[in-house]
Amino acid sequence: MAVQTIGVIGAGLMGNGIAHVSAVAGFNVVLADVAIERCEKARATIEANLGRQLAKGAITEADMQAALARITLTTDFADFRDADLVIEAATENEAIKRDIFAKLGAVLKPEAMIASNTSSISITRLAAATDRPDRFIGMHFFNPVPVMKLVEIITGLATSADTAAAVTEAARRMGKTVVAAGDSPTFIVNRILCPMLNEAIFALGEGLGSIEDIDMGMKLGANHPMGPLTLADFVGLDTLLAVMRVMQEGFGDPKYRPAPLLVKYVEAGWYGKKSGRGFYDYSGDKPVPTR
Ligand code: NAD
Repeated sequence: MAVQTIGVIGAGLMGNGIAHVSAVAGFNVVLADVAIERCEKARATIEANLGRQLAKGAITEADMQAALARITLTTDFADFRDADLVIEAATENEAIKRDIFAKLGAVLKPEAMIASNTSSISITRLAAATDRPDRFIGMHFFNPVPVMKLVEIITGLATSADTAAAVTEAARRMGKTVVAAGDSPTFIVNRILCPMLNEAIFALGEGLGSIEDIDMGMKLGANHPMGPLTLADFVGLDTLLAVMRVMQEGFGDPKYRPAPLLVKYVEAGWYGKKSGRGFYDYSGDKPVPTR
């Protein structure tokens, strides 16, 4: 089934980006959150981000206005009645997501597909909580969505090949490159990236190198655009800790245990860039290492 209308649930960080790229790709978009003010805030963010793309010459004024006109806002799931695909990007909480899927089943067309942008919950388990496990799939976008080119497509045990093909096609129309990932805790990218960041924090805790030397070492020695401690601050140390705990629990393998220093920073409320302090202090003109 070719997708024309996309519902997006959750107008937060990821939801506004997904609505943005969907509208620019020409899909009709219905964006929902629990309060209309959150939807309106998301639309303002989308407008500002489209304005940035316009200033860079990536889109025209006409493209921008057409994209904005394709987005409707709602707090009522009944407005998903025409959706061919609903992408759920609500808060990372399984009870919230299950409640959303139960409500969706009652309003969607029988042939409509549901995708979840979850970072850590089993797609097979979420699918089993819906009335359409064969038309349920994982669609894992990266932040910031308008900039990051990748989407991981995760098929659950029951996901049909037709659903995978249609959702892959929709992601490509959004300008994304798709990789197929197995339904295993944290999929491909975070499975490899987060233990690397965690290892950098172990190394720092052991005094193997300073913050600056660990970051410079990986930038120049491994050709990474950003050092691992800088990247950990960008990801958010609380988020990184949550991902490591999902892996530790999901695999039951001690190699995924969080670095003690990571736990300590989170306990201190030092979450990285978003809280103004993590491995670097962001209060001045340029980041200053904190150890
Ligand atoms: P966020 O907190 O910015 O936004 C979540 C939004 O969901 C909020 O606006 C909230 O009001 C809304 N919401 C909660 N319950 C709802 C309901 N019942 N109906 C409608 N809306 C509801 O979170 P986020 O960072 O955008 O994350 C959303 C999802 O995307 C999570 O599953 C997360 O794991 C996943 N994800 C996040 C990132 C990231 O870098 N932040 C990357 C990939 C995937």
